[in-house]
Amino acid sequence: MSDINRLLVVDDQADILDFVATVAELVGYRVATADNAQRAFALLREFDPSLVILDLQMPDMDGVEVIREFATYGTRAPILISSGMDPRVLTSVEQLGLTQGLNMIGTLQKPLSLPDLEAVLKGQLVNAQEPTERDLRQAVEKDELTVYYQPQADLLLDGGVVPVGVEALVRWNHPVLGLVMPDRFISLAEQTGLIGALTDCVLKSSIAQLSAWRGQGHKLSLAVNLSPLLVKDLDFPDRLSELMRSNKVPNSELTIEITETAALEDPGLTRDILTRLRVKNFGLSLDDFGTGHSSLTQLYKMPFNEIKIDRSLGMELHASSEARTITRSIIDLAHNLGLTVCTEGVEQSATVDFLREAKCDRIQGYLIGRPMAPALIPTALARIVEHSRPRVATA
Ligand code: C2E
Ligand code: MG
Ligand code: MG
Repeated sequence: MSDINRLLVVDDQADILDFVATVAELVGYRVATADNAQRAFALLREFDPSLVILDLQMPDMDGVEVIREFATYGTRAPILISSGMDPRVLTSVEQLGLTQGLNMIGTLQKPLSLPDLEAVLKGQLVNAQEPTERDLRQAVEKDELTVYYQPQADLLLDGGVVPVGVEALVRWNHPVLGLVMPDRFISLAEQTGLIGALTDCVLKSSIAQLSAWRGQGHKLSLAVNLSPLLVKDLDFPDRLSELMRSNKVPNSELTIEITETAALEDPGLTRDILTRLRVKNFGLSLDDFGTGHSSLTQLYKMPFNEIKIDRSLGMELHASSEARTITRSIIDLAHNLGLTVCTEGVEQSATVDFLREAKCDRIQGYLIGRPMAPALIPTALARIVEHSRPRVATA
């Protein structure tokens, strides 16, 4: 059993504690359980969990107080809330935790389902080693970073789905840890100043790849994520244009995706750089819309031409009428402002039907393709075309 993976389960129901503990031990966690808040606080100190599953309704203290107490303790462990309460209440508790500096990673709806529980527990398993700054610096130097691509497709009103492009998503091919996902190293790169070098690698390799695909007859466009920390380099638009020119791809085929511009120290400088990117005909997309990271005011203050609805919303569309209402409003708002909309996290075909009806322009998600190595992209795109059946047959 693992010593690094320590799960603390807080719930007043003994059968739930037993159930979660049994599943977690099978997955590879060492488990501690608490059936009241005081015991949970004691275990935070003694057991130092690497993951917490927290029931919001405890008899001795309500969930909001527990969250506040956890924040006071300053735990960095990811926290999952498990509850049968209204999803809106859960979301506001999550926000509360986030604003107090806690690492809230989501909610588990009660009654708990075995596949959901197993999936989150496996997803949070920490490998023997967390990447360090030294590792990451070496990764950049030794070319261990690779780029995966996820298809994007336009929705046609006749029921067709047309692949139009890909988003570049960085991966780290670590010699010991295997393929490491960006959520585990982008913030490390940002904190250590390595994000500039990382982004240069991603831009160079993905633009060359785009050029190669276009040479083979795949008329694709490319989206690349840019850390908001990098939007202070006045030369960036020129360097990017030069990179496009040397790869013989028109600027209009590259979209820069960015979040959190509101949090930037110098909005004037940001606007200057973003506007120059648009003037040079690059696309500009506001990523993760619908989370705390992207806000409405950025839509009219910055020259975006697309918004991307966050996967957390996209993944809920088949199940939640509230998510559908919010999404419909975002799409209308975007269209009224002259922007197009791409929805991420599309995993269900019912979601595609809804999005088409709501007039969403573009989709991205596991249903049409997961992020994959570049060699697999042509086949994946052909499969999207094959499965896209127009609903209205022409006579
Ligand atoms: P993002 O830009 O919002 O990218 C979309 C993320 O959603 C990707 O996660 C993708 O795998 C995931 N996703 C897409 N469709 C689905 C779906 O249907 N279901 C589910 N469950 N997930 C889906 P990934 O690759 O782990 O990337 C996470 C984040 O890391 C990205 O979010 C982006 O913010 C950041 N990132 C990735 N590459 C780069 C990069 O080169 N530079 C910077 N600065 N950030 C990057
Ligand atoms: Mg993105
Ligand atoms: Mg996104």
